[in-house]
Amino acid sequence: MKLTFLGATETVTGSRYLLEGAGLRILIDSGFFEGAENRRARSCKPFPTAVDSLDAVILTHAHIDHSGYLPALVREGYRGPVYCTPGTADLCGIMLDDNATFSKEETGFACRHGDSKQRPALPLYAPDDAQRALQLLRPHEFDTPIALNDAMCFRFLPAGHILSAASVVLCWRQTILAFSGDLRRPQASLIRAPSAPIHADYLVVESIPSLSVHADYSDTLSWLGSMTDAPARTFITHGEPSAVNALRRQITETLGWCCEVPAPQQSVELEERPIAGRAALQVHLDAV
Ligand SMILES: [Zn+2]
Repeated sequence: MKLTFLGATETVTGSRYLLEGAGLRILIDSGFFEGAENRRARSCKPFPTAVDSLDAVILTHAHIDHSGYLPALVREGYRGPVYCTPGTADLCGIMLDDNATFSKEETGFACRHGDSKQRPALPLYAPDDAQRALQLLRPHEFDTPIALNDAMCFRFLPAGHILSAASVVLCWRQTILAFSGDLRRPQASLIRAPSAPIHADYLVVESIPSLSVHADYSDTLSWLGSMTDAPARTFITHGEPSAVNALRRQITETLGWCCEVPAPQQSVELEERPIAGRAALQVHLDAV
């Protein structure tokens, strides 16, 4: 299994993780790069692999830095399923259309003021692309196993943060891969509190959006601490270098875990992990 970090490295936006193996190519999140420097320059770059070779996209939540690139993927030819929770599907209906309208207005402004290197400046996608992307959404409830093929299934777990935000837990034969998404204790009763998988062999944990090295990581640390044991490899993403390194230090000091901070576009090979002797994992597999 190969995991490539296509975004959310050295920056807090653009979450995109490409997972290849078990006969599948899966994109976890399809985020837009935000910020004055990144929004057009990085978001407009062509996707680094043929989008029609993707088998599935799985969204953790509706924030544009996790879902906003979806209409661009569709414009480039993606026609496969986009799995998400029902609440994320509802929110995407508002946010993707809104981002398309904003991109159009932003491009018009750039044309009028000569701000764009592109001649003529073109929006990353149009409202029609956003509408086509919405047709691909396949909503599934939390805690429901979804099979991608005979070797791979996944489920959504509540992540707090915003309405219907999820972590994604994939089960590849007997190996567990988890993507935290944005984690935060909910401020409203409608939002379910974060729930960690009991075990993960490989984990991608996203730093909370903060530029401060003194940020409060207590929600993330408590989510990680509820797992029964340390993953074989833990990757930290979705933050400026100072914030990601601050979280890495806190995880090492609090839990004793070693964590890796991937570089942009870095690929890592993930080996299958044996199940023998791990009763806790069996509980997880039964649940999946
Ligand atoms: Zn978010």
